Amino acid sequence: MSGKQKTPKYIFVTGGVTSSLGKGIIASSLAKLLQARGLSVTIQKLDPYLNVDPGTLNPYEHGECYVTDDGAETDLDLGHYERFLNVRTSQINNVTTGRIYYNVLNKERKGEFLGKTVQVIPHITDEIKRNILDLGETGKYDIIITEIGGCVGDIESLPFLESVRQLKWDLGEHNMLTIHLTLIPYLTSAGELKTKPTQHSVKQLQEAGLQPDILVCRTEHSLPIDLKRKIALFCNVDVRSVIEAKDARTIYDVPLLMEKEKLDQRVLYMLDIYNDREADLGEWKRFLGRLKNPVAQVEIGLIGKYVELKDAYKSIIESFIHAGAENECKVRIKWIHSENLSPENIQEKLDGLDGVLVAPGFGERGIEGKISAVRYVRENNIPFFGICLGMQMAVIEFARNVLGLENAHSTEMEPDTDHPVIDLMESQQSVSIKGGTMRLGAYECALKEGSLAKRIYQRNSISERHRHRWEFNNTFREDFEKNGIVISGTNTENNLVEIIELQNHPFFLGVQFHPELKSTVLEPHPIFVHFVKAAMEYASNKV
Ligand code: GLN
Repeated sequence: MSGKQKTPKYIFVTGGVTSSLGKGIIASSLAKLLQARGLSVTIQKLDPYLNVDPGTLNPYEHGECYVTDDGAETDLDLGHYERFLNVRTSQINNVTTGRIYYNVLNKERKGEFLGKTVQVIPHITDEIKRNILDLGETGKYDIIITEIGGCVGDIESLPFLESVRQLKWDLGEHNMLTIHLTLIPYLTSAGELKTKPTQHSVKQLQEAGLQPDILVCRTEHSLPIDLKRKIALFCNVDVRSVIEAKDARTIYDVPLLMEKEKLDQRVLYMLDIYNDREADLGEWKRFLGRLKNPVAQVEIGLIGKYVELKDAYKSIIESFIHAGAENECKVRIKWIHSENLSPENIQEKLDGLDGVLVAPGFGERGIEGKISAVRYVRENNIPFFGICLGMQMAVIEFARNVLGLENAHSTEMEPDTDHPVIDLMESQQSVSIKGGTMRLGAYECALKEGSLAKRIYQRNSISERHRHRWEFNNTFREDFEKNGIVISGTNTENNLVEIIELQNHPFFLGVQFHPELKSTVLEPHPIFVHFVKAAMEYASNKV
């Protein structure tokens, strides 16, 4: 790529009728198609809630908190953007109403608006526009797709829509367009697809001063051309701008479905971008081929305390999809609530599994269940993978049951424990504010020669993302190492333990970081790939 600064064009994606229509997947799929034609694309998410970032939200509220290399705690849609595009995002790719107000109010306190009444228009809208245009200022992108969270009609999203309306004038014709994602419900009793909710939702957008340029219509059934014409007529768009988005078998099919519907061509035409390249989706299609034609199958137990809401573990699920496809193996996930596990029922609950993953998390709930699970897989040679809190649980289990340190614990759950094998990081001891203060983002980690980790990564040094306050307590290090634990990854700057593994076990690995945040379709994460491999081996040895 040349070093020439690019002048980007902007695409805004809004949603109507209901939430959860998959704006993130549509935005990612369009971005993928444009990228496959050689354009440089990024995606940004604007979230209408008042939290400054989702870092302080319970996963039950909005699912997983996705962390970027630069340590931003962001919406899980950024995970989709990275997984589809294989391009890293950062803080600027996710902005909430809370952050917008926070910035404006800080400026007001500094006296930057001295003498002026600070108002939603123009001060809040200016701040929103600045956050959108700043991405363009980087000069790195041909196209910036900005997804606006929530639904049109929500009070909260009005300033965002108003900002997009203003940008139409700031940016000029052919430099931006708006895609509205909507739902065409099927009424079984009438045997009909219904367009009225879409008409109403477009009207609401129009009331906010925005005319959508393209409508992407989620539907369970194909949209006949007559229906497309009707939608076009009532919603004031060209019939070629009515795009069908039929339910797909996997989210990774959506780029191909959008290509078939010519969404990318339509966008290029309307943005006045000349590009006659065929989208190069070869690798993507090969991934889909492997995903859909597995030759093996394994069942992995995922032990966590938010299992009722699968979105809380979104990146882990997707990492298993990537790693499964890489191994041509279908990975079935058995969701296991850690609160339902005890030493008495552990054998029955984990029976038949080919591998166990103990998930990240915070706080006391379900902890003993996780520890019981680690003990069972350690003693029974079942492949084990612990992430963040999962790694910490493996340390506690080993301390209690192998080193004989009775009631060893993490000071997160038991501040007065006699054996604090997991302790608060020194850098965290003076921290009292919750938002954005964990150890966040990418840090380097050196791998130990001859270790499983080294075999997996095939490198001496790696960089992975973090989100934690507690760490392995190095005062216990010798005791662990003498008794069979290998410290195979450490941060060389502060000696922080990043990876532990167990000698004489087919696959037992705990990591303090979050590898799931870096797995993409084109680059499945090596730990997940090898964990699935180990589970396949375990499964084949069973029979
Ligand atoms: N609660 C643990 C800590 O803060 C683990 C965090 C996590 O699993 N992300 O260290």
